[in-house]
Amino acid sequence: MEQHRCVWANGDPLLERYHDEEWGNPLCDDQKQFEFLSLEVMQCGLSWMTILRKRAAMQAAFDQFDYQKIACYRDDKIAELLENPGIIRSRKKIEAIIHNAKCFLKIQEAEGSFSKYLWSFVNGVPQRYPDGERNRPYNELSEQISTDLKKRGFKFLGRVTTYSHLQAAGIINDHDAACFKSREGQAVKPAEILGSTVLVAVDRPLGSVHPSHPDIVYPVNYGYVPGILGGDGEAQDVYLLGVDQPVPSCRAVILAVVHRRDDNEDKWIAAPERYTFSKEAIWEQVWFQEQYFDSELIMVDE
Ligand SMILES: [Zn+2]
Repeated sequence: MEQHRCVWANGDPLLERYHDEEWGNPLCDDQKQFEFLSLEVMQCGLSWMTILRKRAAMQAAFDQFDYQKIACYRDDKIAELLENPGIIRSRKKIEAIIHNAKCFLKIQEAEGSFSKYLWSFVNGVPQRYPDGERNRPYNELSEQISTDLKKRGFKFLGRVTTYSHLQAAGIINDHDAACFKSREGQAVKPAEILGSTVLVAVDRPLGSVHPSHPDIVYPVNYGYVPGILGGDGEAQDVYLLGVDQPVPSCRAVILAVVHRRDDNEDKWIAAPERYTFSKEAIWEQVWFQEQYFDSELIMVDE
């Protein structure tokens, strides 16, 4: 499928993949937070392409950015890193990353997790600024966070580098308006709706024929949640599992979210209260439709 992506992210497969799969995805994983922070430190004064090309070598050299290991690096490890031609050989940057790993651990200890600490500045909500106020070198938010990071001892994370990190970690959503990822983060996040009860209105009952693909007969009830908009601006679509006859509507609990990487809308999976399904069992029931998309399943306990 032809996709519009941010203008800056076209032309190199490495860059395109980074944009499509990682950049700007709301990040809650501390290991990845530390990797992104460290890549930003390495990037100072260099092009991002240089960093992406050396990324695999840096992951290998820095123990996959395991901050606990990095916090314990000693002089002999620094000397070894400085002789590694695959990475950015800057003593200052390497020392900053080791130092930052120690500060990172302190934040984890004080705040529970680094992700939690960072998201607390925006109350967990990705920030989307109006046209003309996106993709700035820095802003008030990056200044505020950078000041706090500095206070906690971090190096190489000024307001500009911090801004880049906030973009990469999805705290600031700076995708171009036309980019296929620009709506992500604005729609309801899976973590917020998993486990909640909704009323599903069924407009494609079990056994009915797909309106535009007559060869598809719905093996499950399929409908939408009135009043909740999905990523495509239409009512949020839902697969209703656990009901083995056609029904006009049903109260159901959201068990999972199907995230389509190549589409602008997610699909929800719901079932009446007493039902649970394994990932495999859910896939089996939605495969008739999801086989045509590049989808992943997000479950309650993930
Ligand atoms: Zn984009």
